[in-house]
Amino acid sequence: MATPENKLAFDGGWGYAPAPESTDHIQVKKRYGLFINGEFVAPEKGSYFDTVNPATEEKLSRIADAGDADVDKAVAAAREAYRTTWGRMKPAERGKYIYRIARIIQERAREFSVIESLDGGKPIRESRDVDVPLAAAHFFYYAGWADKLQFAFPGRTAKPLGVAGQVIPWNFPLLMAAWKIAPALACGNTVVLKPAETTPLTALKLAEVCRDAGLPPGVVNIVTGAGATGAAIINHPGVDKVAFTGSTNVGRIIQKALAGTNKKYTLELGGKAANIVFADAAIDQAVEGIVNGIFFNQGHVCCAGSRLFVQESVADEVVSKLKDRMETLIVGDPLDKNTDIGAINSRMQLEKIESYLKIGKSEGGEMHQSACRVPKKGYWCRPTIFTGVSQSNRVVQEEIFGPVLAIQTFRRFDEAITKANNTPYGLSGGIWTDKGSKIFKMTQSVRAGVIWANTFNKFDPTSPFGGYKESGVGREGGLHGLDAYVKLGV
Ligand code: NAP
Ligand code: MG
Repeated sequence: MATPENKLAFDGGWGYAPAPESTDHIQVKKRYGLFINGEFVAPEKGSYFDTVNPATEEKLSRIADAGDADVDKAVAAAREAYRTTWGRMKPAERGKYIYRIARIIQERAREFSVIESLDGGKPIRESRDVDVPLAAAHFFYYAGWADKLQFAFPGRTAKPLGVAGQVIPWNFPLLMAAWKIAPALACGNTVVLKPAETTPLTALKLAEVCRDAGLPPGVVNIVTGAGATGAAIINHPGVDKVAFTGSTNVGRIIQKALAGTNKKYTLELGGKAANIVFADAAIDQAVEGIVNGIFFNQGHVCCAGSRLFVQESVADEVVSKLKDRMETLIVGDPLDKNTDIGAINSRMQLEKIESYLKIGKSEGGEMHQSACRVPKKGYWCRPTIFTGVSQSNRVVQEEIFGPVLAIQTFRRFDEAITKANNTPYGLSGGIWTDKGSKIFKMTQSVRAGVIWANTFNKFDPTSPFGGYKESGVGREGGLHGLDAYVKLGV
């Protein structure tokens, strides 16, 4: 509810003074080639596309569009590096390079954070405090495994697979690159990676880091482009392992294409997580967790808590507190340190989210948005909740990938579990309660790869991540994440 006090927050009464992060130290070239065999090269066909800042719609750089011939070159470079250097290197030596990459990311953390926010629209607070430190942490973590694989797989010998073809989405551009590249390198594989079309810059900066770390040419290759480039990598006969993160639709296409090949694969796909709040939960803490789970990072999170189930006796209180909290969320300049919700990643994504808002209303849902102002230019969506929706509504069933929360109530524990499981997805979930017994029962009964208890969206490189059902195949992160990059012998 917009009370007189919190109304001031959005009409400028006690709004924070602007606190934008400086961009003075940022170097973004006018044009980027493809990073193949340790150097930036022009694409064979000479075609480029723009990457824009979704908060201003301004062009940031021209990016090479890799065709089949470029992908061929990148795979050949990766194969050669695997055969002659990386695949033969002593594991402890490999570890040193990966540590070096981790340290350089740390040293250049500010630059990475600002570029991530410029190119993708996420608030600087997120890129600075989450994406970049976690990306460095992944390299540190997997660097440590490089010479200890015999302990990861006791009694077995772990051999690398060869060339890994990796395709990633736009919601965590640097972090997803780290998730993919770090374990691949630690196990002795070489890599051809494609970032998403709308967020290529930090992956290209990571290419610079690989070069500065003295990584042998061809060990990491970054080829930019759109879906066709991704398909060329995945279908390339010289690729031994495919790692894909993205939508379930594209995941399905990839799984079909890989059927009958010898390629090992992991698919990290969509989600529609249930966040369940019981009457015995610490309600204020739960409201913070709900906000963190769906609104921060614009809801561009595969494991976002996009379905909320509240026990009926506290539903009015939770919804009312949530509406109050929504009024205080600041939507705007991603580079401002006070911003809670940045820009939607692209015009296309904004249109998709807006179409779901229409669908939600037309299906009878009651929509409520915060009253904040949003900038005129750029792509923005106010935090939005739907109440009065049921299990069959599309906003409850389908992944929207925006700051849109569908709220339902329940009375009994079993009802909450049944509703939570009524989804084709199974990536993540959350539970808010005072009772450990409920937490354990829920982790046993909800089919989801990760379940957070009295918190949400927390990550650590030591912890495996991945989905059930249509949320994917295989696990990334932790010890389990190594498995996807090795073949085991006796
Ligand atoms: P997307 O459309 O599936 O794209 C993901 C990547 O695949 C992009 O690099 C894309 O290229 C590329 N691609 C598109 N078509 C392809 C094809 N036919 N063959 C090979 N590659 C192809 O997904 P998105 O909309 O960018 O990302 C959002 C989705 O990712 C959401 O569904 C979200 O849940 C999921 N996600 C899952 C996880 C997880 O760990 N489970 C993590 C993050 C995101 P372009 O974009 O350049 O065209
Ligand atoms: Mg961009």
